[in-house]
Amino acid sequence: MHPFFTPSQYTAPPSDAIVLFDGSNLDLWQNKIGKEAGWIVENGCITVKRGTGSILTKKTFADIQLHIEWRSPEEVVGEGQGRGNSGIFLMDRYEVQVLDSYENPTYSNGQAASIYKEHIPLVNACKKPAEWQTYDIIFTAPRFGESGRVILPAYVTIIHNGVLVQNHVAIWGSTDFIGAHSYKPHDAKLPLSLQDHGNPVSYRNIWVREL
Ligand code: MG
Repeated sequence: MHPFFTPSQYTAPPSDAIVLFDGSNLDLWQNKIGKEAGWIVENGCITVKRGTGSILTKKTFADIQLHIEWRSPEEVVGEGQGRGNSGIFLMDRYEVQVLDSYENPTYSNGQAASIYKEHIPLVNACKKPAEWQTYDIIFTAPRFGESGRVILPAYVTIIHNGVLVQNHVAIWGSTDFIGAHSYKPHDAKLPLSLQDHGNPVSYRNIWVREL
């Protein structure tokens, strides 16, 4: 370990983290076609700007520890999957659901902190709309062998607002919205992306540690 290693002070990034958003700008992000990310940067956070599309990190990652904070819109609009929907796409294809799951029933494997259409969180740890929430995610990228065979699936652990909600679960494949998930071989490192699902969800204090 580095002699000057500084542990995280709750939400502040530790000294070896790559800070992807510190409240000031989206310089380390872009949109799906490699142009400037279109989301709103204001009051130290970024907010989905409907219709501008998902945003991706310019840097690519494999195995990571990710800290990210998110907030459902204060004005509660819609229900189920239509309320405060966004998502964190690990490697731009494995979705950790972001949803306003505070007194908002939906299918269990589509609620906040689910691995979308796969794994149900162990508990619903959601806070009220407009309150900041944390995800601490430990992710191991899948390993592919010759001819694209899966040697090792991706694994993910999620702590939501300090509570373990996904305990080293094996991901079944890319998050397809319809049908069974399966793996399609991909690069060893890929960007992290955040979903524009049309709802003004906000994010702040985003950092990763490469493992
Ligand atoms: Mg989503």
